[in-house]
Amino acid sequence: MAYTKRFDGRGFEEIRKMSAEVGIISRAKGSARFQIGDTIAIAAVHGPRELHPRFLRKPDKGVLRCDYDMVSFSVSERKRPGSSRRSMEISHVTGKSIEPVLDLSKYPNTVIDVFITIPQANAGTRCAGICAASLALADAGIPMKDLVVAISVGKAGDKVVMDLTKEEEDHAEGATDIPVAMTPRNGEYTLLQLDGDISKDELKEALVLAKKGCDEIYTLMQKTLRDSFKEKK
Ligand code: UDP
Repeated sequence: MAYTKRFDGRGFEEIRKMSAEVGIISRAKGSARFQIGDTIAIAAVHGPRELHPRFLRKPDKGVLRCDYDMVSFSVSERKRPGSSRRSMEISHVTGKSIEPVLDLSKYPNTVIDVFITIPQANAGTRCAGICAASLALADAGIPMKDLVVAISVGKAGDKVVMDLTKEEEDHAEGATDIPVAMTPRNGEYTLLQLDGDISKDELKEALVLAKKGCDEIYTLMQKTLRDSFKEKK
């Protein structure tokens, strides 16, 4: 099916409107909010602090523990509260996507907790969560080699598109969702998932789009952090 005009009127390579802020939760060591379209992610960082129970401790490095949770009222059809296979999977891949920028050997026997909450969801929540988590870790003053930036690209109808909405995921024929996270400075991927079908050439095209999207988000994230450091001075 030819997908000629996006449901929300955006260009095929256009990201939804974004905003970001850090230091939004006073009791957390670091915190951030990242919004992309109607999708909002809030992240709070606690630690590094002693890990309990003791048997979970690693004497040579700290443990990064990510916890992703979508609240019940975040989606139109009430989501059952609490953990699910989906939230466990997203928590796991979020941690894996962020770990490469941290030097956990600096924090033996400790844990760095990152709590990600989605108060409002319209697709792309794991990517928004990764951006928020990355900002919150930087806000917490945890040394990082780079920020981890994430965007979902994919296919709607016959088009390769940037930043799919839930409507596109559900109603565009043959929709394919590809969440991508990367460290823009060295261009390495730290997350690449794929839900749906796509040809090799289309995947290449989608990854070019993901790089473009991540660069745009990176600019916003860097500006957000720079502005907050200026305010703290
Ligand atoms: N969603 C929903 N109910 C759920 C889980 C997900 O309505 O229990 C919606 C929500 O808008 C989410 C989207 O489906 O953003 C896509 O979910 P997916 O599991 O693909 O992860 P995401 O794209 O949010 O990273």
